[in-house]
Amino acid sequence: LVSKLTSSGLLKTQGLIDGKWVDAHDGDTIKVLNPATGEVVANVPCMGQSETNDAISSAYDAFRCKKLHTEPTVQFSKMLASMPSEGNDTWMSPLQYDLLISHKEELGQLITLEQGKPLKEAMGEVIYGASFIEFYAEEAKRVYGDIIPATLGDRRLFVLKQQSHEFLQPVGVVGAITPWNFPLAMITRKVGPALACGCTVIVKPSELTPLTALAAAELALQAGIPPGVLNVVMGKASDIGDALLASPEVRKITFTGSTAVGKKLMAGAAGTVKRLSLELGGNAPCIVFDDADLDVAVKGSLAAKFRNSGQTCVCANRIIVQEGIYDKFADAFSKAVQSMQVGDGFSEGVMQGPLINEAAVQKVESFVEDAIFKGAKVLLGGKRHSLGMTFYEPTVISDVTEAMLLSRQTKLEVLVSDWGLIQVYNGACCGLHFLFRSLKYFGLHSVDISSISFWEEVFGPVAPLLRFKTEEEAILMANNTKAGLAAYIFTNNVQRSWRVTEALEYGLVGVNEGLISTEVAPFGGLKQSGLGREGSKYGMDEYLEMIYLLYPDE
Ligand code: ADP
Repeated sequence: LVSKLTSSGLLKTQGLIDGKWVDAHDGDTIKVLNPATGEVVANVPCMGQSETNDAISSAYDAFRCKKLHTEPTVQFSKMLASMPSEGNDTWMSPLQYDLLISHKEELGQLITLEQGKPLKEAMGEVIYGASFIEFYAEEAKRVYGDIIPATLGDRRLFVLKQQSHEFLQPVGVVGAITPWNFPLAMITRKVGPALACGCTVIVKPSELTPLTALAAAELALQAGIPPGVLNVVMGKASDIGDALLASPEVRKITFTGSTAVGKKLMAGAAGTVKRLSLELGGNAPCIVFDDADLDVAVKGSLAAKFRNSGQTCVCANRIIVQEGIYDKFADAFSKAVQSMQVGDGFSEGVMQGPLINEAAVQKVESFVEDAIFKGAKVLLGGKRHSLGMTFYEPTVISDVTEAMLLSRQTKLEVLVSDWGLIQVYNGACCGLHFLFRSLKYFGLHSVDISSISFWEEVFGPVAPLLRFKTEEEAILMANNTKAGLAAYIFTNNVQRSWRVTEALEYGLVGVNEGLISTEVAPFGGLKQSGLGREGSKYGMDEYLEMIYLLYPDE
């Protein structure tokens, strides 16, 4: 497969800066592994601050060049002329979408190879990822301003998102930092609107899944994107992040990932007052009422929980079931979970791939151990899969309570120092022990420890079932968290569905449905799940400036 992908020209193993494929300055590399086998798929450059600064300069030059129409280099103006976009300020062309779709298979294979999800799911991600490119290429035609009725009769007030009939008001150079769970879609969801508005971008994909990002960048080059408009760097995450944060030329950071890193980026963006979009952790409740259709509830909860082996921020973390339907639901749900085949994502019929790495499995194990210790019952699974590697059995746990790590936004102590964050998964019971062990391990006796609290999600194929009696109790349980991304409810009572969805403190709510993400709807969280929205017409505003203009009425 690797040699087939290599000969297709899509297995790129260098970073992309100023339209050129480049190595790290010091030649350093990092390995990309196949999580299903542990095999090394490729080595990619381990870049840091200086390569990121190169990428920023090139993105800034490309941005200035187009915005001000000042002396483009010969190569740049030639590329610009070859962009088949329709005469406005966007960097989009129909070819970008077409190339992603026509390489669906290779891109899907790359996703499965480095991320592990089943091939069918990976191909689904390619379609979903490409949909953001198509949607925003079209949306660039629909950026409207506004005319505000003036309070004084001799004035006219305008709001412009365009400089002239053809130029939008892009925010400028954008740093896009993305996670490993959707190696393509989390990038296109950011890069699509950014390019559509005329921003230039530096993408930093996860070091665990850089190959899909590089293949997508290669396709963008094939579609004629000019040098500097799209750059890809990867390697030392915090060094790259620091360079992006420090640069006054980078006007926006858009990030999807953990809450801890999101908070760090938010603090770091203050120095240059950058705009921020943050898609952070969720702790999705999935509420099943007595009056739900059992089959619909099982199917929806299964999809909401086990997509990508439970490794998404909208995965149902807490399945909260009313007491009247609890036993029937637990039984039917467990049967459905049992029928899911686990294995290498390339094998036919597999629905659950491996987890991303060993640390992810250890976290799942510690959450399950904690639940068992505190009285929960394992209905199914509850241990590593016999396939070994990072495979974990699809698991259903009943009698979960809010005191358990599985369900609750537990306060975790975090050690912050020069070498990054150490997360203490098991909370207070082994927190101190872990802390002291870590200090000893790093040979540190006194460090600057700031204790911050955040939450961790199980991020694995474990479905915790919690029981409730009344609607009020369900709403309290669902909202008892610092997160507010996705929620799901299952009921056949229309009044209840409106009442409950309006009481939920969540940015996305699915009623009788477990898969709700689409490019045409706004995706984003309330509370500590983040800032801003991605997808839909609202996602476009995140990359546009808004100018207010006053004219005398003469
Ligand atoms: P996850 O648990 O999903 O891997 P992370 O927040 O650790 O979430 O990673 C999401 C993205 O953020 C990845 O691309 C990762 O390399 C990047 N990242 C991690 N730490 C930093 C940092 N200090 N600065 C900038 N980016 C970071």
